[in-house]
Amino acid sequence: MKEIKDFKASVRAWLEANCPPSMRTPPPEGEMVLAGSRLTFSNPDQRLWFERMREQGWFAPDWPREYGGGGLDARQTRVLETELSRLKCRAPMFNLGIWMIGPVLLEFGSDEQKARHLPGMARGEVAWCQGFSEPGAGSDLAGLSCRAERDGDHYVVNGSKIWTSYADRSDWMYALVRTDMSAGKHAGISMLLIDMASAGVSTRPIELISGKSHFCQVFFDNVRVPVANLVGAEGDGWMLAKALLAHERRAMSKFGDNNVPGVDFLDLARRLVAEADPDSRAALADRVAACAMDEHAYKLTLERTHEAGGAGQDVSALVATFKYVHSEQNKTRYRTLTALAGTDALGWEGEGYSEELLKLARQWLNAYTYTVAGGTSEIQLNILARRVLGLPDSGG
Ligand SMILES: Cc1cc2nc3c(=O)[nH]c(=O)nc-3n(C[C@H](O)[C@H](O)[C@H](O)COP(=O)(O)OP(=O)(O)OC[C@H]3O[C@@H](n4cnc5c(N)ncnc54)[C@H](O)[C@@H]3O)c2cc1C
Repeated sequence: MKEIKDFKASVRAWLEANCPPSMRTPPPEGEMVLAGSRLTFSNPDQRLWFERMREQGWFAPDWPREYGGGGLDARQTRVLETELSRLKCRAPMFNLGIWMIGPVLLEFGSDEQKARHLPGMARGEVAWCQGFSEPGAGSDLAGLSCRAERDGDHYVVNGSKIWTSYADRSDWMYALVRTDMSAGKHAGISMLLIDMASAGVSTRPIELISGKSHFCQVFFDNVRVPVANLVGAEGDGWMLAKALLAHERRAMSKFGDNNVPGVDFLDLARRLVAEADPDSRAALADRVAACAMDEHAYKLTLERTHEAGGAGQDVSALVATFKYVHSEQNKTRYRTLTALAGTDALGWEGEGYSEELLKLARQWLNAYTYTVAGGTSEIQLNILARRVLGLPDSGG
């Protein structure tokens, strides 16, 4: 107990001394540092924060030191996360490698794959993208058709992936491919690590209605991938995908206000309620209070789950609810703010709108994307119904 208290005090002191004050505010839009070989920083504080956290090994605090991690145990990692959140520190970078494929390689990768890929991820030097969704396979991910056919020491990959976040800025992709056309839908899938610089890989950015997008479609035209880049065994892809999606959903359920460009919910809500028509003020305040209480209850549940998990209890059912609950709560908070601001919240650009309300409109739309990415809310409910509650399969 004393040890963890001392650890907490030392983390707090280190963060106070090393996190520049400007890195304790939500990042402005477009100011997120994306890990990778083409790292860019918007300002010196951002670089300093990145470099200091990297030297601590705190990009991947619970990974072993030999792979560039911080070597912290689960309780220490939780203390670090709590202190980062308490001080409202920004995530020093956006790194799908650490959040998703890294933990999968730690558990299922070969020694060679771990030694080759984990240190670069942990230092933020290599960007990874996720090649799961395809034009014909989203929620029904196991329906994917991108093929990898064995040819000596290589697989030859043909097909396409879609909605691949930051593919055009990524160095590597972890991809689900079909290696056995005759096996069942799930059994014929494998996971490959694909160098995005390989001959035959091309990416096309997808433009969205907002004019901005991090989405790409990726095409594979006879791309040769060494067999050594197969994760696990042939046919393990579905099992690995489920493990990876659990890491993805866990990472998403931890996204706090300090990590997404946006507005301070309570701050803006208080001001909007104060400016509202006196007749509707009480009703509006009720909605804000409900959101704040839900958020607080969620944080307490995270704490409780962590404690129970640390004490050896099975918390998998609770953990399975987090991504759904958190992304839906986030959506409700932005919907509440938009309702409070009324027609002023509908501005997209141009004169007559405050900077804050323009951010709100974007963030409100953005909140919907979290209920889709990593598996939609409907799919999360299906999973909870079947796997946690044991309800009969309705065939959906
Ligand atoms: C911000 C963001 C980032 C993303 N990044 C990536 C990425 O990096 N890599 C990647 O591979 N993919 C990525 N995706 C894609 C994402 O995984 C898919 O959009 C998602 O899985 C849904 O698939 P879909 O878009 O094909 O929708 P569909 O599967 O066509 O679903 C359409 C609608 O039907 C509903 N629905 C479908 N099936 C059922 C069912 N059985 N029961 C009830 N309702 C159902 C869905 O909930 C949804 O509302 C990203 C998506 C977003 C929004």
